[in-house]
Amino acid sequence: MGEINKILIANRGEIALRILRACREMGISTVAVYSQADRDLKHVLLADEAVCIGPASPQKSYLNMAALISAAEVTQADAVHPGYGFLSENADFAESVEKSGFVFIGPRPETIRLMGSKTNAKAEMIAAGVPCVPGSDGELPEDEEACLAIAEKVGYPVLIKASSGGGGRGMQVVRSAEDLIGKIQVARTEALNAFKDASVFLEKYLETPRHVEVQVLADGQGNAIHLGERDCSMQRRNQKVIEESPAPGVTDAQRQEIGALCVAACKRINYRGAGTFEFLYEKGQFYFIEMNTRIQVEHPVTEMVTGVDLIREMIRIADGNKLTKKQADITMKGHAIECRINAENARTFAPSPGALTKYHAPGGPGVRMDTHIYSRYKVPPHYDSMIGKLICWGNTRESAINRMKGALSEMILEGIETNIALHQRIMRDPAFIEGTHEIHYLEGMLERWAKE
Ligand code: ADP
Repeated sequence: MGEINKILIANRGEIALRILRACREMGISTVAVYSQADRDLKHVLLADEAVCIGPASPQKSYLNMAALISAAEVTQADAVHPGYGFLSENADFAESVEKSGFVFIGPRPETIRLMGSKTNAKAEMIAAGVPCVPGSDGELPEDEEACLAIAEKVGYPVLIKASSGGGGRGMQVVRSAEDLIGKIQVARTEALNAFKDASVFLEKYLETPRHVEVQVLADGQGNAIHLGERDCSMQRRNQKVIEESPAPGVTDAQRQEIGALCVAACKRINYRGAGTFEFLYEKGQFYFIEMNTRIQVEHPVTEMVTGVDLIREMIRIADGNKLTKKQADITMKGHAIECRINAENARTFAPSPGALTKYHAPGGPGVRMDTHIYSRYKVPPHYDSMIGKLICWGNTRESAINRMKGALSEMILEGIETNIALHQRIMRDPAFIEGTHEIHYLEGMLERWAKE
């Protein structure tokens, strides 16, 4: 305990700055690492120390384990925070961080490995009593007749998914028996190419679910709590566009019930750190799809309604502390919505890197802007197009939406294209205002918007 005095932030952009801010508040020194394209990142300029870890290409910098470990050695850091994306869910990285004598701010490598396999994760969840999408019992066998029998039993439409899948890749919807075997082959090939693992499994395809996820914190010493849920149903190509907490329509009784099951699952796998249980939610039922063993992009909406600083808690837990908060200490107040601000055309989604000639941040009560950008900052073309997150809190969902409308119109970003107009369109969309949108809603809304 109390061993973490210096943290290496193994990430870039807004999350690196978010971690740096938490460290500063806690009196912890910071080491920024950056690629040659990222010398001017805000957190690099603010960090106590900064180390260049390689060229712009992520493979040669932010995904370069050897460069990251040697940066930690050279700067004598105590711990490594992986953020999200990049190596945050890479069990081998967590393992080599620990083997090199540093604290990995996240779960144990074996937990990351276990949850990284969707079939193993599902088996654990079933054992813990967490409801899952009905489907095959683990991986699909080679035998075609056996596959047909499984799909028949589950009932069409079914979804073929890669066991080691991620980022929405390697999934195939099958609507009738004639297509099953062919689509399994396609999915296996895709999975092998993308994840070096051809194993696939099958589950019931839900037609109009919402995406609802539960945030947890666990200390790896037997204690775990949940911090309510987030709705992330506004998605395009499986990428979240808007997130909010609480999820519209989820009652407190439902929240406590699903939350308690997630807590039980954390205890079962002796989880450590911050984590998210992702569910599809249809007709009042939750169906587990996967667990993310890291901090998520959308964590601020949970912070805004619970008042808990999740990054701070992650660091405290990694430093060997037990959870100080009990479930009864967690209450949700008001409503928070997050809009992901991307450097891209609002209608075509074409990336728009380049120099920001002008930037004015929105402000006022309940408005939080998590971003690393500043006037004259140059958005490099090598990374994700997300340049910030605008989070608005209100006493009610309606007031959060109204605040968001105001904040979006107040924000000035010039020199590059952004998706602000898309967010403005969503904020006045009747289904969004009602809170009835499901995961396919945005695609249809975009088609209508194109004709407006
Ligand atoms: P990945 O790790 O590739 O993101 P997920 O299991 O999280 O894969 O699924 C990604 C998305 O695919 C979900 O958010 C949801 O939109 C859709 N999806 C996954 N499973 C199902 C299912 N059984 N029925 C309908 N849609 C699904």
